Amino acid sequence: LVSREGHAERSTVWVGPVPIGPGTVTMIAGPCAVESPQQTLEAAQMARAAGAVILRGGAFKPRTSPYAFQGLGEPGLKILAEVGAETGMPVVTEVVDARDVELVASYADMLQIGARNAQNFTLLRAAGRSGRPVLLKRGMSGTIEDWLLAAEYIAQQGNLRVVLCERGIRTFETATRNTLDISAVPVAQRLSHLPVVVDPSHSGGHRDLVLPLSRAAIAVGADGIIVDVHPRPSQALCDGAQALVHDDLRELADTVSAFAPLV
Ligand code: PEP
Repeated sequence: LVSREGHAERSTVWVGPVPIGPGTVTMIAGPCAVESPQQTLEAAQMARAAGAVILRGGAFKPRTSPYAFQGLGEPGLKILAEVGAETGMPVVTEVVDARDVELVASYADMLQIGARNAQNFTLLRAAGRSGRPVLLKRGMSGTIEDWLLAAEYIAQQGNLRVVLCERGIRTFETATRNTLDISAVPVAQRLSHLPVVVDPSHSGGHRDLVLPLSRAAIAVGADGIIVDVHPRPSQALCDGAQALVHDDLRELADTVSAFAPLV
């Protein structure tokens, strides 16, 4: 179902009024985690000003440590939906448990399946039945084939509104949080008709890398990027080191629009 075979053209997935697909570069941005109404609104305004058209923000956070901030849960979903409406952006947020799919879908315009759940087949099927488009991250140790077969689980439920997201893979390299597999973008686009976006924040793991990795993503033909922003990264409850601040965003917007037309 997700194979490129029989598809002369690659597909566009619509998230509310926003297209993700060939011919455009869609910018998705927002806080890694929804922490408060104020922080989410400030991050959304920063994102919007930089050219973002979809707001990201986690309410259910899949953290490596059980002692790390786990997200606000449903109150976080509510904040995200309200801020999205106020700033005029559809919202994408992660769902980590199949039992929460309906709840998350009641607030979000798009569901995100994270790298740690990329082969949670129960969750993939539930997301497929949600009626919402799905942003599917590549598993951190997943091959491209694993990733596309995960997308197939969603598609099998009658939901072809899947956007693939390359977010870096685990390698022997420790200088970056994950190794951005830039070649995965054209390979996935050759094998599948689904749009492919890149997450330079979770791959690089550091703000200084987000801009160069975004350039690389756009240069190689990604259909969009998804980036973390935070008004005060030093106080962030999650992944502050990779969050862009005001000045970076201006540069990102200039860079992205120089390469390709933003949606
Ligand atoms: C995220 O985007 O918030 C996230 C946790 O990403 P990943 O699943 O790629 O680690």
